[in-house]
Parts: sequence; structure tokens; C-alpha cells
Amino acid sequence: MITTTLEKNGRNRYHLWPCSVYHIKPTRHRAQLDCRAAEQIAQIIAVFAQDGGQLAQIARQRHVRLDGGARWLTRQRLADLVVDASGRGSASPKWLAGLGYSQPQTSMVKVNVGYATRIYRRRPGDLAGAELLMVAPDAPHGKRTGLIFPIEGDRWICTLGGWAGDHPPTDEAGFMAFAHSLPAPDIHQMLTRLEPISAISSYKFPSSLRRHYERMKRFPEGYLVLGDAICSFNPVYGQGMTSATLQAAALEALLGKRTTHVGLWRDFFKAAASVVDIPWQLAVGEDFRFPETEGKKPAGTDLINGYVTKVHRATHHDPVVYTAFLKVMNLMAAPTSLFHPKLLWRVLRNHPRSQPAVSVQTPEVAYAEL
Ligand SMILES: Cc1cc2nc3c(=O)[nH]c(=O)nc-3n(C[C@H](O)[C@H](O)[C@H](O)COP(=O)(O)OP(=O)(O)OC[C@H]3O[C@@H](n4cnc5c(N)ncnc54)[C@H](O)[C@@H]3O)c2cc1C
Repeated sequence: MITTTLEKNGRNRYHLWPCSVYHIKPTRHRAQLDCRAAEQIAQIIAVFAQDGGQLAQIARQRHVRLDGGARWLTRQRLADLVVDASGRGSASPKWLAGLGYSQPQTSMVKVNVGYATRIYRRRPGDLAGAELLMVAPDAPHGKRTGLIFPIEGDRWICTLGGWAGDHPPTDEAGFMAFAHSLPAPDIHQMLTRLEPISAISSYKFPSSLRRHYERMKRFPEGYLVLGDAICSFNPVYGQGMTSATLQAAALEALLGKRTTHVGLWRDFFKAAASVVDIPWQLAVGEDFRFPETEGKKPAGTDLINGYVTKVHRATHHDPVVYTAFLKVMNLMAAPTSLFHPKLLWRVLRNHPRSQPAVSVQTPEVAYAEL
């Protein structure tokens, strides 16, 4: 999935099944996003340094202490509150165990996802009538997905991916053959016309991982864990940054209400768990549409997936359902919105047995303006 916002007032254009086309603003490539975040953080640190004057010294000491992990927790603190936002590889469970606390329980869902990405030069008219192409896998048998969307600097970014070990190759011929094998021809057709300007990079993601800090009975005061360090989702759905941001917002709200950090960890982990619950259910629910997925299936997943399969089919040719589905997957709307009577009717109406997903090789192209 992509990190972008659907234009609320923009005119969405649709390309009939199985590709769906969105009118979007060019998104930011991850490297640029990270760079901008680093610039902002540097500014904040500069402000603190001006105000406090001690920051450089504290940062130096903290760096040593971070490397020490458990030692840091036991020594005199240099801050009222320290947050472990060190990502999926967080050493907090290990540090906690070293200090005599229990380790958080974990949930792991093995997906064996792999994808490959390449950047292309973008020219006006490359994709007439629309600005993004996305081909969803036709689960449970079809495991391949692809998307191509615009990024800054007049470039396209194309990612091909697959579940359960069905990964795209990183050589030119293999990459193109994988694109050709997608259930819709549009991405492959487009790639044959574009000029590549990068190598093909690959990434593999074995499993979604959730650490249930909210179930801990004891936890050190003045210490929290946030973001991927709590939960790392299958990145295909693009929910990790939103989840981390919502957790940070939850922390800010809690800090605004409290006068002491004593017991903050209990309230925060509860709030973070309710942030994570929805994207976790969405991501692993989607992943369990593939029979090869391993792990504990959240209650009701099969039932929900029966309906979601119909939603997927409806998205192939109904812009309203597609918009609603993307909003849910991008955490802009509650999953329950997919069960709204107006949508329910469209989903059930749009469940065409006569239009099986994988059999269409040259889908009719038609545009509907919302
Ligand atoms: C390939 C890929 C594609 C993705 N695509 C999307 C997407 O499109 N949309 C989306 O929302 N999410 C996406 N995600 C998920 C997203 O990247 C993560 O959810 C998000 O970055 C989590 O942020 P974080 O700050 O918790 O952890 P991270 O971004 O992992 O940051 C942790 C930081 O801590 C640093 N660190 C680690 N240990 C220490 C230490 N001891 N001392 C000091 N620093 C330390 C690390 O170097 C790192 O910079 C993707 C993830 C991957 C892997």
C-alpha cells in the first residue's frame, strides 16, 4: 500500500477490473520522507540545545547508555521519560529480561512476502487518464501484486511483490516476466514503455510481529516502547508509519492529561494496543486469505474474509467500494464502514460470478468519473 492521501475533492478516475486507478498527488519516496523527518528532528534538537545547553552532553551520555541497554535502565536517569522507538529489532524484551521483568508475549504471523522495486523516469501522458496503477492479488491462488505510482522528481516507483515465497526476481528479464504474470496486463504494458533509472532492489519480510506490552503486569517506570518496536506489520499494506504516528499521538494525549509518569506505561500500552488492534486485524486478516499463512488467526477472520473477498471483487469495477476499501486499509475509516448498508448493497450486487478474477487477460478499459 502507499503512503498517500486520497484527494478529498479531486476527481477520481477509475480503470475497470482488475486494475484500479487513483487520482493522487505524487507521493514522497521513502528516502526523501526519512530525510525530511531527520531535518525536522535536527531542528527540534537545535531548539532544545539552545534552551537547555546540556543536550550535546546528554546525547553523548545517552548514546553510551542506549548501547548498554539494561545498564541504562538501572542507572540514574537523564530524562523523565525514555521511549524505545528502535524499530522491529528492539532490544527491550532482552533488556527487561536482564532486569528480572518478564518478556512481553508475542503474536507472529508468517507471510513470507518478498518484493522488488525499480524507479523509472516519468513523462507527461505516461498513464493517460490516471496517475496510479495497482493490481491486487487474487487470493487464495493468485499471490502476486504490483503497483506503480508517481514520486517526486518526475519519477515512477514500481513495486512487484508476492506472498508465500512467490517473490519477484531482481534481474531484468525475471522482473518483467513477473510483471507480465500479474492478473492484469496494465503494469507490464506500462513498464515496456518506461525508461528504468535504477537497479532493481528486493526486500523480504518473513512475518508480522506484535509484542503485547499491554499484557505486562510489571514494567519499569519512566520507560515506554513505541512503533515497530511494539508491532511490525506486513509492509505491503503500508500501515506501520500511521500506526506509529497514532501511538505517538496517543502518548501526547496521555501526557497532556497527567501530572506524573508513574503508571504511565500501563495507560500507554493499553492505548497503543487499541491503536494497533485495527491495522493488525486488517493486515493479518488479509494475509490469512492465503492458505500458506501461518500463525494465530484472530477470531472471526474467516467470516470477515468471506465478506472481504466480495469487497475485493466489487472493487474491481465499483469506484465507491474501492474508495471505501482503500480508506479502511489506509486507516482513514473504520473497518465497520465496509458494512454500511449503502456499501453492503453495492458489495453484494457487485459479486459477479460471471467475471472470475484470473481469467481476464485484456480487461476492457473504461473510466468512470466520480
Ligand atoms: C520495505 C518496507 C516498506 C514499508 N512501506 C511502508 C509504507 O509504505 N507505509 C507505511 O506506513 N509503512 C511502511 N513500512 C513500515 C514502516 O517503515 C515502519 O512501520 C516505521 O518505519 C516504524 O517506525 P519506527 O520509528 O517505529 O521504527 P524504524 O523506522 O525502524 O526506526 C527505528 C530507528 O531506531 C534506530 N535504532 C535502532 N536501535 C538503536 C539504538 N540502540 N540506539 C539508537 N538508535 C537505534 C534505527 O537505526 C532506526 O533509525 C515499510 C517498512 C518496510 C520495511
